Amino acid sequence: MSRDIKSLEKRDLEAELLRLGEPKYRAGQIYAWLHRGARSFSEMTNLSHSLGGKLDEQFYITAPKALREQRSERDGTVKYLWGLRDGESVESVLMRYDHGNTVCISSQVGCRMGCAFCASALGGLVRNLEPSEMLDQVIFSAPPGERVSNIVLMGIGEPLDNFDNALKFLRIVTSEGGLNIGYRHISLSTCGLAERIDKLASYNLQLTLSVSLHAPDDETRSRIMPVNGVSPIAELMNACRRYFDVTGRRISFEYAMIGGVNDTEEHAKKLARLLSGGGWHLNLILLNPVAERGLAASTRKDTEKFVGILERGGINFTFRRRLGTDIDAACGQLRRKERIE
Ligand code: SAH
Repeated sequence: MSRDIKSLEKRDLEAELLRLGEPKYRAGQIYAWLHRGARSFSEMTNLSHSLGGKLDEQFYITAPKALREQRSERDGTVKYLWGLRDGESVESVLMRYDHGNTVCISSQVGCRMGCAFCASALGGLVRNLEPSEMLDQVIFSAPPGERVSNIVLMGIGEPLDNFDNALKFLRIVTSEGGLNIGYRHISLSTCGLAERIDKLASYNLQLTLSVSLHAPDDETRSRIMPVNGVSPIAELMNACRRYFDVTGRRISFEYAMIGGVNDTEEHAKKLARLLSGGGWHLNLILLNPVAERGLAASTRKDTEKFVGILERGGINFTFRRRLGTDIDAACGQLRRKERIE
């Protein structure tokens, strides 16, 4: 049976080459080709014809097809819909900042976390992505001749629900001889699975962990995020504290303001209390309304009141700039549209 060569870590690829009677440095050559986006072994011009043939018999190289590409006229953001080997599809988004290119990637086809505001949750989970399929989103989203400097695991899916593949992806994408992107340039966003946050902490990676909070009390949070039944806020915050103690990395909380749901003055006060003195960072954004969800973003007036309370509470927060809103570059909206059409 043919195997997925791009999901191999470098040392595993070396073992495979040794098994084929080849010197170890060949693995380095192949690894470099794969991460530069080679789609076949015959493209790898420093390999012999016969080695190419042997590799072809045993391995396949994943290479997604761009089914759609939407470019924002406003800010240069590009949203891709990638077709995978089995006909499924996922999205990635390229964001162009002065400090470099950031790619936001998906970790699963669909999602089973069921958040009430999110487009990705609508059809449930279809399957996990392989490490190679996460890598491909980084490799093939890069503008020609440019490198990707930052990665955010904030696309479709819950990365900690696909833990082993996400971890392997991180090891490969940060490796020397591959894309070599430093952990400090990678963010991983989770809906807040407390046990998995502890598991991630045990690897002590220097990445940035974002936690999707979206409500300051269990009653409100359970209404919009079923995961709160598994990891209620107190448990989640304890896991976050332990994560910070082990890794020394400050956690970012995400909070999407939803009109009449989580944006009252009462919510703001509770949020200020929850986050006071914790050394956290808070990212406030406005809900990006998803037609099927029947939820709206907070009004300007409510937003200003909310923000004022956080300011007076001394909370460290930013109101995030939204890129790509003219191209559905948020939260599973493109895959969803394609399926409906
Ligand atoms: N499963 C992970 C990562 C994917 S979602 C997580 O939950 O964090 C990435 C971020 O987008 C999360 O903070 C998520 O809550 C947020 N999000 C999802 N749908 C949204 C919407 N319609 N408007 C604003 N933010 C949304």
